[in-house]
Amino acid sequence: MNDHYPFVNESLPYAYNAMEPFIDEATMHLHHDKHLQTYIDNLNQALSKYPHFQSWTLTQLIFNTPSLPEDIRTAVHNNGGGVFNHRLYFSILMNPAPQHPTGALAETMQIEYGSYQAFQNQMKTAALSIFGSGYAWLVVNAAGQLRIITTANQDTPLTMGLCPLLNLDVWEHAYYLKYHNLRTDYIDNWFRIINWDQADDAYRQCLRMLLP
Ligand code: MN
Repeated sequence: MNDHYPFVNESLPYAYNAMEPFIDEATMHLHHDKHLQTYIDNLNQALSKYPHFQSWTLTQLIFNTPSLPEDIRTAVHNNGGGVFNHRLYFSILMNPAPQHPTGALAETMQIEYGSYQAFQNQMKTAALSIFGSGYAWLVVNAAGQLRIITTANQDTPLTMGLCPLLNLDVWEHAYYLKYHNLRTDYIDNWFRIINWDQADDAYRQCLRMLLP
């Protein structure tokens, strides 16, 4: 993974039409090639004036934004967040996908939420509650517990001390071409294309990191 300046928009790990019929090919092109590309270009543009920070990784930039030069702080916050959030969003999709969580994550979800269905309902409610642009997330908190949270714009959970497992992009650009105003249908279909094995890997990594 390309992880410092100049950031590069790596190819999707699947074909643009791979998520059909749940996410359409045109949306994938627009989302990856235009929206994510713009965040990458803007992040590179901000860092281009400051060679000192060009060796910093994406997460270093996100965690240490307050120590960056004042004139690029907002750009790095928004565009660095945009790069991180979109890379996670695209990486967690697969089709066909397991239709339920797997491994240790499945066991914890059963304990904390009672059932996968109960988790899904809470995740969906969270995603529908976002006013404007943002994301719903499944994260692990500092106590090692699963939590569903929402963030606005391109904020990330990293700076909140949370370790993200997966995210659902509910910016209109993520679904409007196909679903128009029907965010709820997009959310229902997103649950059908989650790479739960990868989320389980991320879960175990988060636990190792948070609970040494
Ligand atoms: Mn997006």
